[in-house]
Amino acid sequence: MMTRMNRNGAETCRLSVVVPCFNEAEVLPAFYERTVAVLRDAVGEDYEIVLVNDGSRDRSWQVIGELAERDPHIVGINLSRNFGHQLALTAGLDYANGDLVLILDADLQDPPELLPRMMALIDEGADVVYGQRTERFGETRFKVAMTRGFYRLLGKIANVDIPLDAGDFRLMRRCVVDALNDMPEQQRFVRGMVAWLGFTQVPLPYQRPARAAGKSKYSLVRLIRLALDGITSFSVWPLRLALLAGAAFCLIALLLLIYALIGWALHSSPPGWASTMVAITLVGGMQLICVGLLSEYLGRVYMEVKRRPHFIVREVRARQRRRDTIDGRAAE
Ligand code: UDP
Ligand code: MG
Repeated sequence: MMTRMNRNGAETCRLSVVVPCFNEAEVLPAFYERTVAVLRDAVGEDYEIVLVNDGSRDRSWQVIGELAERDPHIVGINLSRNFGHQLALTAGLDYANGDLVLILDADLQDPPELLPRMMALIDEGADVVYGQRTERFGETRFKVAMTRGFYRLLGKIANVDIPLDAGDFRLMRRCVVDALNDMPEQQRFVRGMVAWLGFTQVPLPYQRPARAAGKSKYSLVRLIRLALDGITSFSVWPLRLALLAGAAFCLIALLLLIYALIGWALHSSPPGWASTMVAITLVGGMQLICVGLLSEYLGRVYMEVKRRPHFIVREVRARQRRRDTIDGRAAE
């Protein structure tokens, strides 16, 4: 039988599933069972599951290692530390060899059972099918409200149309994944980058269930960081906002000056120091906000110009022949 090779010289398969895992040991066995059942039905044996261990502090890597030991469909990638969800995803996409690539969360919040419907949409001509959450279960009201607000804000100010209420749950054709892997940027807001790529993108509405086990790995701080990455990667609007606010305050200052001059000319009482203080602190505050905005972008420019690799792989576990065992980049 002819084996098909991808552009890295590794064997391809029909479908790769990419799964970032951070402290998911509890849920991985259930994830494996449910996902494999769906994959067998959908593509027979022609699939691989790329499990990326993102510096977990629990037994995730042992569990992944055991799965890779007994199932040749499993590819385990162990990153050298916790790089964060988006970079773990980037690593998985880099290692995936499938003609189609499906991104799933390890916690079963992205139901693998939707795969056949996603594949049907691909057959009808879509290049990307993304899950769009119509409802979310098991999340705090605060988080749902925050993320809803965030996606709407981003939709308004981003220079690409980033789909509302969509996470990273999506099925993509190989041409899209190749283009995504070729994007060199360090701040990787994957859902935005995929939107930026273009191609034919089709939503699949679904209700997002609660986590199968464990707790969310996204703390409020991490969520805010992701939101900031999303905004700064896809919009320079906040910078413009600083300019607008600056212009508005200059205008106010001009009006105040005119008012003061008239008061001086008419010999009315000089304005009290309270209003002066208010003006000074207000303008000082505005300046600090603007400087802060500039540093957000400058900091990101600084990170970009370092051109560090996106992630570091410590070890790869797989029974199949892969490009890293071919070129020796990260062989066990
Ligand atoms: N994740 C990761 N690295 C991190 C945080 C999260 O690989 O630093 C993975 C996590 O294991 C899960 C996915 O990213 O598979 C989504 O995380 P989570 O379910 O905690 O986010 P939520 O669904 O609560 O937004
Ligand atoms: Mg989750």
